[in-house]
Amino acid sequence: MNTSYLLIGGNLGNRQENLAKAIALIGNQCGTIVQLSPLYETAAWGNTNQPAFLNQAIALATTLGPQQLLQQLLAIETSMGRIRSQKFGPRTIDIDILLYNHELIATPALTVPHPHLPNRRFALLPLVTIAPHYTHPQLHKTITALLQQCSDDLPVILFAQ
Ligand code: ADP
Ligand code: MG
Repeated sequence: MNTSYLLIGGNLGNRQENLAKAIALIGNQCGTIVQLSPLYETAAWGNTNQPAFLNQAIALATTLGPQQLLQQLLAIETSMGRIRSQKFGPRTIDIDILLYNHELIATPALTVPHPHLPNRRFALLPLVTIAPHYTHPQLHKTITALLQQCSDDLPVILFAQ
């Protein structure tokens, strides 16, 4: 069995309902959801002229390998109506693999740990609630330490437990 930490986010439609739906689909198609963070709200990053995002981190126990997991997650995004238009654009649902065991993966389709994790408070803050002591396999620092040293100053606000 493998453990993967995922970040789910979205800023279109009923955001909370979309997160819940994505989590149900992940539980059906990818493995067992073992932990869920609270929901956090963050102003859009990059392209700021769009609604605020809701984000949630989950821990998944899975028998899928990392590439298979990515394929399933992309299929779930598509089944939920995600259309890729612009980089950093609005989306009903985005599911990113933050961590997969303690593996380092660098292929054209998949980079793990997620390369932006250390500089995005909206990913670190939910993640720290479920994996504070997990050591980043490349930076050799815990998620708690990465959050402490993160210089991203976009406010991330607790939205719902
Ligand atoms: P972003 O999440 O950066 O806003 P997308 O969700 O549109 O962008 O993802 C684009 C591509 O990023 C995916 O098709 C996938 O192949 C690739 N990708 C690379 N590493 C990861 C990862 N760790 N998790 C999710 N997608 C990844
Ligand atoms: Mg993505």
